[in-house]
Amino acid sequence: MELKKIKLHGFKSFDKPTELDLYPGLTGIVGPNGCGKSNILDGLQWVMGETSYKNLRGSEMDDVIFSGTDTSVSRNFAEVSVVVSENKLSSKNNSDNEFEIRRRIERNSGSKYFINSIEKRAKDVQLFFADNSLGPHSVSIVKQGNINQLIEAKPSERRKILEEAAGISGLHHRKHEAILRLNATKTNIERINDVINEINTQLSSLKRQYNQAEKFKIIASKIRQFEKELLQIEWNALTDRESELKNQISTKENTIQLQKNKINELQIKEGNLKKKFNP
Ligand code: ATP
Ligand code: MG
Repeated sequence: MELKKIKLHGFKSFDKPTELDLYPGLTGIVGPNGCGKSNILDGLQWVMGETSYKNLRGSEMDDVIFSGTDTSVSRNFAEVSVVVSENKLSSKNNSDNEFEIRRRIERNSGSKYFINSIEKRAKDVQLFFADNSLGPHSVSIVKQGNINQLIEAKPSERRKILEEAAGISGLHHRKHEAILRLNATKTNIERINDVINEINTQLSSLKRQYNQAEKFKIIASKIRQFEKELLQIEWNALTDRESELKNQISTKENTIQLQKNKINELQIKEGNLKKKFNP
């Protein structure tokens, strides 16, 4: 990866938009004390995703915003962009993939990151550089006073430096992210297991209720069947009783009729006798 351009606007001492073109080879920044040489490296470190204001020599992140001078008023934002190119040697042609990475901060509202004008997370930008062995703390940026630190570094720190130089720090970032995602997934699985257990408990209670409802249905239909049979028996008994009574009534009616006939006969006989004795 090659650093081609750095643009600063409202960043630290760079009130006016400032563009610096960088060419292959060694680039030296010279100037009198306090002219802003280290601010350029701070800007580079910042756009790569530096999150510590101390490493940027400030007491809070908003300190990177131009705070004004005797002749200029302060600004409300700071912006740094870098243009980098990935030199890819493909079999067909030499293609130069250019990316513009931009970070912008507005007073009291935090930073925004963009890769080719598309807003990204800080992590995306950090990974973008880490994948290319670059980063705010990589060996590619050696700040004033850092040389001694490099020489006096502990073995573990030196290992980190070597890993970055070897281009595997991006893998470490990704491994760290993957572990975080794995832990989040584990927590999710535990939560899902809890839900499954809860559902299983509800399921067995529902199963019990279902079995009871089924038993109730069978018993209720048996009761209905028995009631029907009982009503049929009662109905049969009543109709038998009805026909029995009807028979009794008709027998009685016959008897009455016979008696009436007898009465008639007797009345006729009585009439005849009365005629005989009282002519
Ligand atoms: P040296 O040669 O001493 O290392 P330098 O060229 O590295 O100096 P820097 O440290 O980059 O200089 O710049 C320091 C200057 O930047 C100071 O004049 C300081 O006032 C100015 N500066 C830092 N932060 C801001 C800010 N937020 N707003 C305006 N000016 C700032
Ligand atoms: Mg300096």
